[in-house]
Amino acid sequence: MNYKLKCSILEKIEEGEELTEGDERRIKEILRKELEFIIRKNILPTPRNFERWFYIFCHIVELNIEPSDDEILDLYIKSFSEDSNSSTKLITLHNIFSEVIGSLNITVSNIKDFDKSIEEEGKKLEGYQDIKTDLKGILDTLNGLREQNKSLVDKLEKQTQELKALRRLLGEKEKESSYDLLTGLRNRRSFERSLKELFRYSKENKFPLSLIIMDIDNFKDVNDTYGHLEGDKVLIKVGSILRNYLRARDIVARWGGEEFAILLPGTTREEAIRVAEKLRTILENQSFTSDDGKTYGITASFGVAEVDSSIDSPEELFKAADRNLYKAKKLGKNRVVG
Ligand code: GH3
Ligand code: MG
Ligand code: MG
Repeated sequence: MNYKLKCSILEKIEEGEELTEGDERRIKEILRKELEFIIRKNILPTPRNFERWFYIFCHIVELNIEPSDDEILDLYIKSFSEDSNSSTKLITLHNIFSEVIGSLNITVSNIKDFDKSIEEEGKKLEGYQDIKTDLKGILDTLNGLREQNKSLVDKLEKQTQELKALRRLLGEKEKESSYDLLTGLRNRRSFERSLKELFRYSKENKFPLSLIIMDIDNFKDVNDTYGHLEGDKVLIKVGSILRNYLRARDIVARWGGEEFAILLPGTTREEAIRVAEKLRTILENQSFTSDDGKTYGITASFGVAEVDSSIDSPEELFKAADRNLYKAKKLGKNRVVG
């Protein structure tokens, strides 16, 4: 919690002190204001939200202030804003879908539990009704909340089903797609198709064609030190650097995990080595910042090969570039071999 909220009535309860009539009146006022606000703002009445908003309204009632709705929301953000970080961690569509479906399921079950507890609380309150008739108002509001819950549960359950269907569809589309979901670059399948076509064109027309294979150095360390999501961010960034630097006719793909392939039509081996060297320098000078504020860098190794008379198939071109990448790694990484 960033902003310290005070609720002396809860402290009193926690310490087992006897509540005065004034305290009881105040609890009722807090509850009434909280419930009205939750309904007015359509806030999901989960137990956790309920508890948090109780704190907010306790603070408001105890200080005897009359903030506007915007000021109340602001107070909530100031007090519970650590939650906002979690959303920035969602990167891939898959993650988003599974997170959303996961949280919807939790919310649905929370609401169902909460619905039960409202019913129980309501019953308990009914017993007091004769003595404290003004509790009736709270009871009505609680019942209103139960109604609201029911339609929310229905809505959320329907949305969960729709999201599941959407995720299935996304999985199918991904298989048909030519693009890698994480980086937006071409995927391996689509790259292989282009390689085949361009290879044939190059052989038939004696047109230069070069291939660069690039592999990020010690990428496992990025995942191990900063986490897999941070690793994903690096891959996204590297993808966008490659796309921005290379020409439109160059074909850039994410070949595998942290490995990229670049096909350069009309480019000789010497020129391709220069391109790879340029990319190597850009990556070496790029700084990355993790979520917890640590700055770090990465490097990559490159293998280059050009179609020539000794190379008879796209596979051989690929093998030649891969052999050079292997040499670059052997020689100490962060270098280009062609
Ligand atoms: P080297 O310099 O020899 O290439 O070392 P390396 O650590 O880069 O290579 P290694 O093959 O040992 O590890 C590659 C790592 O890349 C391991 C794997 O978890 C990670 N990786 C593969 N795909 C992804 C991905 O989509 N996201 C993230 N965050 N990591 C990935
Ligand atoms: Mg690597
Ligand atoms: Mg690798």
